[in-house]
Amino acid sequence: MTNREWYERACRSLVGGVNSPVRAWGAVGGTPRFFLRGRGAVLEDAEGREVLDYVCSWGPLILGHACPEVVRAVGEAAGRSTSFGAPCPGEVELAEAVKRRFPSIEKIRFVSSGTEATMTALRLMRGVTGREWIVKFAGNYHGHSDSLLVAAGSGALTFGVPTSPGIPASVAEKTLVLPYNDPEAAEDLFARLGKDIAGVVVEPWAGNMGLVPPAPGFLETLRDLTARHGALLAFDEVITGFRVPEGGVQQRIGLTPDLTCLGKVVGGGMPVGALGGGAELMDRLAPLGPVYQAGTLSGNPVSMACGLATLEVLERPGTYETLEARGRQLEEGLSDAARSAGLPLSVTRLGSVLGLFFSPRVPASLEEVKATRGDLYPAFFHGMMDRGHAFAPSAFEALFVSSAHTEEQIASTVRGAAEVFRTLA
Ligand code: PLP
Repeated sequence: MTNREWYERACRSLVGGVNSPVRAWGAVGGTPRFFLRGRGAVLEDAEGREVLDYVCSWGPLILGHACPEVVRAVGEAAGRSTSFGAPCPGEVELAEAVKRRFPSIEKIRFVSSGTEATMTALRLMRGVTGREWIVKFAGNYHGHSDSLLVAAGSGALTFGVPTSPGIPASVAEKTLVLPYNDPEAAEDLFARLGKDIAGVVVEPWAGNMGLVPPAPGFLETLRDLTARHGALLAFDEVITGFRVPEGGVQQRIGLTPDLTCLGKVVGGGMPVGALGGGAELMDRLAPLGPVYQAGTLSGNPVSMACGLATLEVLERPGTYETLEARGRQLEEGLSDAARSAGLPLSVTRLGSVLGLFFSPRVPASLEEVKATRGDLYPAFFHGMMDRGHAFAPSAFEALFVSSAHTEEQIASTVRGAAEVFRTLA
């Protein structure tokens, strides 16, 4: 069957033919490809065409597709049972591996998605402080829970519904939205309402409106304000977690949040999210504390094995060096190619995550992201896809490099981009 035939068949049974909106290619047009298999950095679609993958399942596949060690661990775990619904060693081992990378985390609760991790963070922040208001930042995306799908980035931004119908006004109004990278706005808000704010949740590098770095002092101000006003600070490191050798952005910049939300890489491609923090705070969750949270498949043995095998390979000497080198090669290659074509392009990078902005300078906020030439993106996307390089089907997503990407593969992507940039300039 062709991609089109699969898509038409999918549309008869799945909403929009997909199970997550951006996959439908609504922002770039055309028929989404259906993938049959992946190996390393290469994906094969239903028509037998191969593409180099820079989506990597939106981040989890930091080792690329079907990494042999990961596949073996998953197979062995599944052979012992796909779910116990009871404690199992894999949960303990993965928790210990996460703690080794994140010193701010003493205790963990595993869940099955990043959405659940941030949702649980909110409940804990509210439960512990006895306050209701939450602060988030325009263009940050923390999953699709009611409280956080307010002025969100990623798919919500792509589809122009940052606040979805179905979210009660009484819930949305408890979420206060500030501009990203604007410490004065945060100071002003806390000066007025600080005693009612339960906590602040922030992407320490914003990876859902491209990839926007934090301005100097921005995160430090949030740390200071929350501490002074008795509120809690949660770093959503669902994208950034394990993308740098230090563990996360928090370690890189030497700032300790009260809570850390993880997802994506921590599950290595299986459904895993995690909430972690200091023991005293985390112990307020059930069964030790009154703040309730639960999950039938939380700590699932197959998912835990997948995450653990992924982190073990990542820990090996040389893996982060490879990720850094490939990320830098792509960053420099795309920047040079755009410059040669006379096309304004800014490339941001945190380890092996990159952001592309058709703009002479890096935007600092959602407003500035919207002012870039995102309208060039569909032509860029299709130009690259036609040449065998799969980027995210939306201008507002980050792109991901894996340790399986080879130097030659990245070089070929840069050559492809040079051709496409010339058509766009
Ligand atoms: N937080 C961030 C920063 C994300 O990028 C995402 C998803 O892209 C989420 C949370 C939600 O994670 P999930 O899609 O696993 O629910």
